Amino acid sequence: MNEKNENLPDPQKIEKEIGEFLNKKFGGNVKIISPSILPKHSSVKGTDSPAEKKKFIDFDIKPVELVSYLDQYIIRQHKAKSVLATKICTHFNRIKHLEANSNIQAGITGTIKSNILMLGPTGVGKTYIIKLIANKIGVPFVKADATKFSETGYVGGDVDDIIRDLVKEANDDIELAQYGIVYIDEIDKIAASQNFRGADVSRTGVQRALLKPMEETDIDLKVPHDPISMMQELENYHKTGKRSKRRINTANILFIVSGAFGDLAQIVSKRISKQSIGFGSTISTPKDESDILKHLKAEDLVEFGFESEFIGRLPVRCVLEKLSENDLYDILRMPNNPVILGKRLDFNAYGIDIVFTDESLKILAARAFHENTGARGLVSSVEDALIYFEEHLPSSEIKKLTVTQKLVENPEAYLEKILYSHERIHSGEYSVPYRTPYHKNNKKNYTKTNDLDSYDYDWDEIHRLATENEKQYIAEYVSKNWKNLSIRHGLTLSQYRCTLVAEYFCTHVTELGNAIKQIKSYYESIKKIEVDFYKSYDLNIVLEEDAVDFLIEELIHNQITTIEITAKIYKDFYNGLNLVRDKSAKNRFFLSRKSLIEPENFLNDLIKKEISS
Ligand code: ADP
Repeated sequence: MNEKNENLPDPQKIEKEIGEFLNKKFGGNVKIISPSILPKHSSVKGTDSPAEKKKFIDFDIKPVELVSYLDQYIIRQHKAKSVLATKICTHFNRIKHLEANSNIQAGITGTIKSNILMLGPTGVGKTYIIKLIANKIGVPFVKADATKFSETGYVGGDVDDIIRDLVKEANDDIELAQYGIVYIDEIDKIAASQNFRGADVSRTGVQRALLKPMEETDIDLKVPHDPISMMQELENYHKTGKRSKRRINTANILFIVSGAFGDLAQIVSKRISKQSIGFGSTISTPKDESDILKHLKAEDLVEFGFESEFIGRLPVRCVLEKLSENDLYDILRMPNNPVILGKRLDFNAYGIDIVFTDESLKILAARAFHENTGARGLVSSVEDALIYFEEHLPSSEIKKLTVTQKLVENPEAYLEKILYSHERIHSGEYSVPYRTPYHKNNKKNYTKTNDLDSYDYDWDEIHRLATENEKQYIAEYVSKNWKNLSIRHGLTLSQYRCTLVAEYFCTHVTELGNAIKQIKSYYESIKKIEVDFYKSYDLNIVLEEDAVDFLIEELIHNQITTIEITAKIYKDFYNGLNLVRDKSAKNRFFLSRKSLIEPENFLNDLIKKEISS
């Protein structure tokens, strides 16, 4: 055994320790089967062999692209989006660059990691932005709460645990975890001046405990006295035949900390006004809290209760703004909004197509705004409006639901009207009891017979109109962003194709990017027909763009498959085109949308032009 391996765990010892643990816990009933600790393939190489070393930082993304990706999901927060996208992108690109040039650049020492401090109230997108970036770059991400840490550990845990969680998040892939993102929320609660209510937690102690991991340190993945980590150690030995000590280095792990920093604005504004008095400076005190925080300096954070070493390890700072009522409405209006997509999915699971009108979204946004929890309030506002529908519609014949202003204003009454009118339409088929406990209060307002007649809705027509509006809105959205989306997805998004994307998006529950990918895949399968046609029938046809779009539309509506399209083109055109090719010099035929719809007219004109003349 070489010197490096001298202090490493002996499998027999591990087995004994686990055996003792199991014995204590379960008596003599549970035992370890000894042969499992022997390596099956002692020749298996460790993952650190150069030939097997995987390349983890494998992305090709620039800051501007990342910002434009975030724009698809995040409302407002323009400054934060650009700072975060740029710094995180550069962090990973720098690692990638250094890895690729490790031979020439190894000498640089003392480089500072771009750890980030985010400031902003709850529910404004702090976590969401980081999650989106981690997802896009393809690195593991973990989130923890600073109030859960203590310098010496709480309930058996300490700050190193979050790094161990990163390994779990990376499916036990230590190397991948070494490029992860650690997000620590409520960091303001570990500032010394804050009135923290946790009894024995030393806040500055936690700051100090974080210093090393935030810079660089090795963390042992084995937690003393934790049988699970011992098991993993054993399993690892079993897999690799190596008794390697499992450690993770934090040099490349990016730390992002965030908090609402309640009183910080006051500290900053006090300093600013002192400066403006003291030195005759013209700095005027800004009114808005996020405006004030834009003037934040390290000294303010020290005054707030942070150790200067801790602040020193957070060179990037960004302030997120409070969201207005209109911002919340814009969030609900975003095609990729998870709350609306989630609800569409919930109803879709029962075969119910749900569509929201603009007016309903405005009311839902206003309600969420009054909760004062940023965009977090949107979930409960939408849930509250739809819960009765989610309960009752699956047992009815209703397959279409339009969330209108009237629905969100009085969901219970609206539900009753829909159920009753359908009951009337499908009399006898509907089996859900007409009156539910929810309707008691509304009983007075209208009765079964006369009130419904005044609401003689054509539910299908309401739904059709709302869906058309939604399609138009999505088509306009795609059209406004056509350039970025075309580049990102490698598909030219003509005006017509924007409507095709909208058509697909509104009839399937998916993110906008997936809708574009699907249209692209239809496009490619249709272009492949040209090749297949040439190979199978020796005829060179070219489907013009409007013909391709026409066929994509048919595919979206599931009216035809690509095999059927090929067969139809063969049936409609083969004989005619073959004749023209044999009798003239022409051997390449362009088929437009019109020619696909009226093949006979097209062939007659072609024959006239190429043969008869
Ligand atoms: P916090 O700022 O407290 O970390 P989150 O980022 O977790 O809040 O936001 C909660 C949810 O609210 C997100 O998952 C997202 O759906 C929505 N959300 C918050 N801010 C925005 C925003 N600026 N744009 C779009 N959605 C947002």
